[in-house]
Amino acid sequence: MRTELLTVLREAGDYVSGQDLCEKFGVSRTAIWKGINQLKEAGYEIEAVQNKGYKLVSVPDSLSEEELKSIRRTEWVGEEIFYFPVIDSTNTKAKQLAEEGYPGGTLVVAEQQDAGKGRRGRSWESPRGMSIYMTLMLKPEIDPNNASMLTLVAALAVSAAVRKLTGRPAGIKWPNDIVMNGKKICGILTEMSAQFDYVNHIVIGIGINVNNESFPEEIAQMATSLYLETGERYNRAALMEEVWEQFEHYYAAFLKTEDLSGLVKEYNAHLVNMHQIVSVLDPKEPFEGKAMGITPRGELIVDTWESRKLVSAGEVSVRGIYGYV
Ligand code: ATP
Repeated sequence: MRTELLTVLREAGDYVSGQDLCEKFGVSRTAIWKGINQLKEAGYEIEAVQNKGYKLVSVPDSLSEEELKSIRRTEWVGEEIFYFPVIDSTNTKAKQLAEEGYPGGTLVVAEQQDAGKGRRGRSWESPRGMSIYMTLMLKPEIDPNNASMLTLVAALAVSAAVRKLTGRPAGIKWPNDIVMNGKKICGILTEMSAQFDYVNHIVIGIGINVNNESFPEEIAQMATSLYLETGERYNRAALMEEVWEQFEHYYAAFLKTEDLSGLVKEYNAHLVNMHQIVSVLDPKEPFEGKAMGITPRGELIVDTWESRKLVSAGEVSVRGIYGYV
């Protein structure tokens, strides 16, 4: 009921009479009044004017299920949404839901993570109430060998959404980080369960630092938030929605060829490593070279003084030679 009420008030953008709401939902005036009060308690500012009805004036920065459902504009992402005030990791939960039979497109969202994960067993700092932690679960009919490219698809989506909302540049540090002014605002962690020729499920976890005012000392050199970079606070649900709308667009392009051929140009246009000298921190054989963009399979092209190398995403990190980017 609260979700439906919110959706109607949101779409109307103006006063909606109590009578109309009663008729629409087939409930009493008291039930509407109760629903409105619950929304107010949750932080929604709703004006009630006699003979006019109710009008949504402002929304809280909330990631609750009703907020996410009422703001939803995506076609298939988030058909099922699971919201948790606190969770160990949204990726872990999404994998569990996949195994329980939930469909691709299911979204897990949390206000806080106790065990947020980064790549290679590293952790993702996940404080409460100021960032976005979300995981999309997919059950695509694709070759498992092509799954790692989805990290780059998600990176394109986040970078486009952040640029659209803030009007500022938000580049991609290959393969999976989004950066503003050389610091990281977002990390992406893709995990897969597959047979050799069949994908059981893929989860794409995205952490975005939105309204954070500071970071723990260990990561303060490389981490930043939209607030710290722009001086403005952003509504997290609106950003989240924008990310998934963008994702649907880029994912459709990926599915056409099951690679990034249609997206290479755009990815390279936002690649902060482009034409930079990078250190490739390959555990077997670290090396340096000039980054020349990505291949249609999402590998980073690195020219060393003696040869051209293609670096696969996965177990490798790249760094600028003077620092993080
Ligand atoms: P790299 O940035 O070294 O290439 P990566 O892409 O492999 O790393 P991720 O898995 O995206 O790294 O993220 C984990 C790392 O990011 C952590 O080891 C830490 O250094 C940093 N980090 C952790 N939490 C945050 C955060 N909230 N914001 C920005 N950076 C973070």
